[in-house]
Amino acid sequence: MKKQYIIPIFVPHLGCPNACTFCNQRKISGQTKPITENDVRDIIEDYLKHFKEKNSYKEVAFFGGSFTGIDVELQEKLLAVAYEYVKDKKIDGIRISTRPDYIDKTILKRLKKYKVKTIELGVQSTNDYILQRCKRGHTYKDIVKASKMIKWHGFTLGHQMMVGLPESTELDEINTARELIKLKPKMMRIYPVLVIKDTELEKEYKEGKYEPLTLNQAVERCKELCYILGKKKIKIIRIGLQNTDTIASPDVIGSEVVAGPYHETFRQLVESSIYYDTIVDKIKQFNTKVKEVTITVNPQNVNNVVGYKRENITKLKEMYDVDVIVKQDIKCTPEKIEVTISKNYPDFIDDVDDKTLVGMKK
Ligand code: SF4
Repeated sequence: MKKQYIIPIFVPHLGCPNACTFCNQRKISGQTKPITENDVRDIIEDYLKHFKEKNSYKEVAFFGGSFTGIDVELQEKLLAVAYEYVKDKKIDGIRISTRPDYIDKTILKRLKKYKVKTIELGVQSTNDYILQRCKRGHTYKDIVKASKMIKWHGFTLGHQMMVGLPESTELDEINTARELIKLKPKMMRIYPVLVIKDTELEKEYKEGKYEPLTLNQAVERCKELCYILGKKKIKIIRIGLQNTDTIASPDVIGSEVVAGPYHETFRQLVESSIYYDTIVDKIKQFNTKVKEVTITVNPQNVNNVVGYKRENITKLKEMYDVDVIVKQDIKCTPEKIEVTISKNYPDFIDDVDDKTLVGMKK
């Protein structure tokens, strides 16, 4: 499979008259000044210089804000720059992200003209009460309509959803994932809500009206969504906000995050938790008291097996008294994980007996 490169271009808050309670695009993207055509060109050139693999899939992605809501003239200018690179075969595609209520036939025609391939919709939730509660300004009906139109016009559809929105329960989020699956997105981004400075949510948090998820809760909720979406083969392209100078732990100077389940490697926490569950399941299936297992995986998954700060290895020892040997095998496909017993309880007893015998001889 070809390596994929993304050239991210942030268009913070441009064209977004909305003020979702959790959002401050300038802080999230770390960018405060509006983007120009020259900026787009400079960013693309800069990224292209640094891509190592020649035979790769390269995509320009206009993120943040609501791209199709910005002034049409500027929208076309920005798209035109990216399109030049598509025509010159220097990049392979363009993607944009926007709101469900900023999609209609005219907008889609314009995006087609500039060969945009993928449209990501910021959905956040399919529950109308929750959408209203965080002042999204659109409804579930808008999500359905926009998703259908995007697919009907031949674009690749992506969805973005959030966990931990005000008054949203785990069940609401599971329902959101299930409703979105019906709309057949190719990909999904999952964002746990962080409380960002200068947002309405910050006010609610300080007044005790909103309580963010703990890190564990956010990991568990995202994990459940991964299971549900994974079964339908929907690619999860991001879990957690991108770390930037401003999106960092609340105790870091300059961080705009006030509270919430921030973690520098949030996705790894979710993925290694999924690995932990798989390993435990496999160990339980052995139906014997296991002392030590050998886990063989593709080198790219070693970190997920071991867990952040060896958390999985420690938990397996503490919870099940099982030691782990991790083996890397390039021949193992990335989806595969092989767990075999290297020592079971009788072996362990034999070891003890041997040592005891040695001790007795002395
Ligand atoms: S629609 Fe998007 S950019 Fe606009 S306020 Fe809401 S989250 Fe932020």
